[in-house]
Amino acid sequence: MSGADHETDVVVIGAGQAGLSAAYHLRRAGFANRSGFVVLDHGKRAGGAWQYRWPSLVLGKVHGIHDLPGMAFGTPDVTRPASEVVSEYFARFESVYDLPVLRPVDVQSVTREGERLIVSSPVESWAARAVISATGTWDRPFWPRYPGQETFAGRQLHTADYTGPEDFRGRRVVVVGGGSSAVQLLMEFAPLARATAWVTRRPPAWRDEPFSEDWGRNAVAKVDERVRAGLPPESVVSVTDLAVTPEVRAARAAGILDRRPMFDRITPDGVVWADGSRFDADVILWATGFRAAIDHLAPLHVREPGGGIRMDGTRVVLEPRLHLVGYGPSASTIGANRAGRAAVTEIRTLLRSER
Ligand code: FAD
Repeated sequence: MSGADHETDVVVIGAGQAGLSAAYHLRRAGFANRSGFVVLDHGKRAGGAWQYRWPSLVLGKVHGIHDLPGMAFGTPDVTRPASEVVSEYFARFESVYDLPVLRPVDVQSVTREGERLIVSSPVESWAARAVISATGTWDRPFWPRYPGQETFAGRQLHTADYTGPEDFRGRRVVVVGGGSSAVQLLMEFAPLARATAWVTRRPPAWRDEPFSEDWGRNAVAKVDERVRAGLPPESVVSVTDLAVTPEVRAARAAGILDRRPMFDRITPDGVVWADGSRFDADVILWATGFRAAIDHLAPLHVREPGGGIRMDGTRVVLEPRLHLVGYGPSASTIGANRAGRAAVTEIRTLLRSER
């Protein structure tokens, strides 16, 4: 027996698409609530990170949300915020499948204690035979550093803090980042802003053809290769290129998406390029993506010298009782679904071999 407050076979950390998919497959495989598995989530309500997405991100603007296993998303109203609709869908899912989701439980560490992994929040701990970590990226917005950043007199925010276009009415805004969030937000607030500048490190990769399964598979394969090599994953979405929709075409024609190279430094009044040109700004919006939220795994020392966690499928090579789902190649709603199932299949085999 460990000194933990609770004993269970499997702890799932996180109740987003990835954690719920894993929970569904655990339930189907016959794991009982609480003694067999438990899902710990630090959100206030159902919805994973979707609940925090800005209200102007309506369902019609997202790439597409894949059904959770066993329950169709249906055809909800595309003009409603994704945050609301997805939260309702996830709540329904948790209730229909009677999933043991405990919230808010903030997992701060996973440690080893003999045959068990101990999952701890500030108030309770669980001893588990296997752990599925499905904590996404939302809690780790990435802010790059540039010279002079701390001197900027205006407002700096990350896309994770964006609440809607009114934030920028009458403002001069620099948007940093080459992903689809940068493009979407620019198109959304540029008509209200006084001026905008879009800067990216690399020229944006526009894709004229509609999204195809081949593109998706390619993107996932690139990220998979990185995590198998123990390198930090890039986001799947960041390697799928930017779709040229009719809306994007119009924004390009209007000059809203005229991209500039990365500036050289930040001053109190704006940003300056190496050639001396400048853009006076009230706001810098960092649309610079997210990193995996895996600080709670630090005590396990599973990071490789390359900075990432070496994976074989969803299994962590240095700790086979630990699976990461929604991480690297499975960081999309469809990838999260598959990863949840794959992790449970392996964990069943592992636990059977122990008995
Ligand atoms: P999340 O939804 O982030 O869930 C993680 C859960 O873990 C959260 O509930 C969080 O509260 C919890 N958690 C985190 N840390 C802890 C902790 N220490 N203790 C306890 N709980 C914790 N993908 C698509 O397929 N289609 C799209 O259209 C799409 N649009 C996107 C738009 C944006 C702006 C972003 C940022 C991402 C988008 N993605 C999209 C990616 C997609 O949202 C995720 O890859 C997918 O939802 C996977 O979810 P997840 O379960 O891994 O993570």
